[in-house]
Amino acid sequence: MDTTIALIVAAGRGRRLPGDRPKQYRQLAGNPVLRWSVGSFLAHPSIDRVHIVFNREDEALYSEALADFDLPSPVEGGATRQASVRSGLAAIAALSPAKVLIHDGARPIVPPALIERVVAALDDSPAAIPALPVNDTLKRGSGGVISETVDRAGLWRAQTPQGFRFDAIFEAHMAATSDLTDDAAVAEAAGIPVTLVDGAEENIKITSEDDLTRVGRWLAAASETCVGSGFDVHRFGPGDNVRLAGVSIPHDQSLIGHSDADVVLHAVTDAILGALGAGDIGEHFPPSDPAWRDADSRQFLLHAVELMAARNGRIAHIDVTVICERPKLAPHRAAMVASLAGMLGLTADRVSLKATTTEGLGFTGRGEGIAVQATATLALPASGDF
Ligand code: MG
Repeated sequence: MDTTIALIVAAGRGRRLPGDRPKQYRQLAGNPVLRWSVGSFLAHPSIDRVHIVFNREDEALYSEALADFDLPSPVEGGATRQASVRSGLAAIAALSPAKVLIHDGARPIVPPALIERVVAALDDSPAAIPALPVNDTLKRGSGGVISETVDRAGLWRAQTPQGFRFDAIFEAHMAATSDLTDDAAVAEAAGIPVTLVDGAEENIKITSEDDLTRVGRWLAAASETCVGSGFDVHRFGPGDNVRLAGVSIPHDQSLIGHSDADVVLHAVTDAILGALGAGDIGEHFPPSDPAWRDADSRQFLLHAVELMAARNGRIAHIDVTVICERPKLAPHRAAMVASLAGMLGLTADRVSLKATTTEGLGFTGRGEGIAVQATATLALPASGDF
């Protein structure tokens, strides 16, 4: 089968933007810019693999931004953008992809339909890039004064991802001598015809503080609030502690289950899956599968978070109610909140955890087990084009 690889170039130093980190690692609506860019491609059905070109100086930022994504090791970039792309292409050459989409890591908002247009155009053309027509009248200025009006007819603003048949662009990049500003220019210099497909206004390249604000506003306007609920029960059995929200709490019994029986993490995982409309925990991790025997429930939760991240979603808030007579949870509440917040990458004010009894009534009242209900409030990109 023909493979299509997205090569995301994130090796730039972003000197035009003030701040302690390159622009692709700046925060945008709760996630680093690069995480948004990468998530768009990881989630796209026409993209088989995603490879990233980075700067080794940014290793810590890179890990922080993408640690939970399933990605091959990043490729080390070069001194210029062109050198970085060349390193990336060389690194994936052994995989013999049919198509490659080269994307600027500093463009966080890539509509899936735009990616599809580029991939589809490569069936008929060796190269295709998204672009928008220039609608404003263009002026050439000199010393703050117009020196001429430039004819805008036939002018386009080039965006990324720029798509190519792999062999053609690899050869063109290896042969390129002068430093060109985009990959289409490398193709043009090699005589490769480049097709234009429709770009998207929101596919903005972050170069200034204003761009970050603009994209942040756009994301807020384009996001929907989705709420999911989760409920889980585990029964008590012999043991000396219960595990709740990843915290071990001493008790004269333990919770019984196929995994580590962390009933809080199970309910929260189901709440997140519920908000995503992505089934339930049993569907993703069947209890009949011996792989999950005694499993750390953290991995169930992180899987749900990964599915959410792949959809460019983020958690706005988690609310948990633990229902039991014993153990008393008040002394452990802060530790449980901190643990849950840590796993979800949230601040503690975004995680609520309450405990209640049922006044001695029902199975929790009789001390037969612990029930937990959880609500997850997610901000997800509005459905449709993005
Ligand atoms: Mg369970």
